Amino acid sequence: MKDNSNSIKHQIPYGRQSIDENDVFAACTVIRSEWLTTGPKITEFEQLLAEYVGVKYGVAVSNGTAALHCAMYAIDIQPGDEVIVSPITFIATANSIIYQGATPVFVDVSPETLLIDPDKIEEKITDKTKAIIAVDYAGHPCDYDRLKKISNKYNIALIADACHALGAEYKGKRVGSLADITVFSFHPVKHITTGEGGMLTTNSYKYVEKIKSFRNHGIDMDFRERSKKSLWNYEMIELGYNYRITDIQCALGISQLSKLDFFIKKRHEIAAVYNRFFKSVKDITPISVLNNCHHAYHLYVIKINSSSRINRHDLFNLLRKAGIGVNVHYKPVYWHLYYKKLGYLHGICPQAEKAYTSILSLPIFPGLTDSLIKYITETLKGILIEQ
Ligand SMILES: *Cc1c(COP(=O)(O)O)cnc(C)c1O
Repeated sequence: MKDNSNSIKHQIPYGRQSIDENDVFAACTVIRSEWLTTGPKITEFEQLLAEYVGVKYGVAVSNGTAALHCAMYAIDIQPGDEVIVSPITFIATANSIIYQGATPVFVDVSPETLLIDPDKIEEKITDKTKAIIAVDYAGHPCDYDRLKKISNKYNIALIADACHALGAEYKGKRVGSLADITVFSFHPVKHITTGEGGMLTTNSYKYVEKIKSFRNHGIDMDFRERSKKSLWNYEMIELGYNYRITDIQCALGISQLSKLDFFIKKRHEIAAVYNRFFKSVKDITPISVLNNCHHAYHLYVIKINSSSRINRHDLFNLLRKAGIGVNVHYKPVYWHLYYKKLGYLHGICPQAEKAYTSILSLPIFPGLTDSLIKYITETLKGILIEQ
């Protein structure tokens, strides 16, 4: 038991935050100020992030999952509707569809990138289909030209779950500006953090109004606007939630955002070392990166080749034993018990299911040092030689 707790303590995580004294100072300044929540830092963070991705509006909320729920609400997803989604994602993507009483329809991924396969979407579109949620898995943007064409043809919304892809680009355009609404998360493993936090970006003011009301109980204006106008009255017009983020978090977010490009650069440097290493490893192939994009490398995902002498299960355990906190992103969403109970069957997305048995995410985050990267590749080398 003692050994076990020790090894867990020393695990190199697959991802973690990078916080410096400027971040601490920014958050502390707000703690000492008048507004702890729903103050000026929220608007400032929203504007800065919207500007960064190249859209008119940002709306900050309490986390990425809440942002997804807000997006489903904003595009008016209702019971009986269907929404197309990738099965290789964090459960929250599909859950947000169910929050609105609608049905997730899983469309298989391309085996090379594990991004939703545009060739397989149209066959799943019915009269009930209201939207597609594209997931920029690992930080690789989806094929937005193809997705936009499909969403225009069928007049359905295109939502981007870009929780992996802040800072990524597709054909020279920043992720965040490529769909009707894009969703980001600021969980500590993501590119920038606010502890918990999320943001929606869009060019549509109609969506902004709906989302701002939805994050605040369905009330039609927030307290600050009321106090400016000296009105005591407020009206709840729809059923909303408390999905507000705090000013403390947004001050941290602003400070983090100023370092985003540096963070992405560090992630690229780590990915380049891994790429070089895996060129000479015949048992393992990193998942593909297309050259129409700038990757954000939230994850560095490898595939254990079917001809390999080692399987994913054993490699996972050996790396964990060596203190390397590898992870698996993701089990197909519909393989979770809750989804099984809803009636989703095995076999509906064969590529996703096949990939799931062979993928592994290696540690990648800005604070991963050269010596730790070396330790990871040397450990891998040692394990593979022994097979
Ligand atoms: C992190 C993540 C979310 C959820 O974000 P939270 O801020 O943790 O709620 C949703 N989708 C994907 C793909 C994510 O990686």
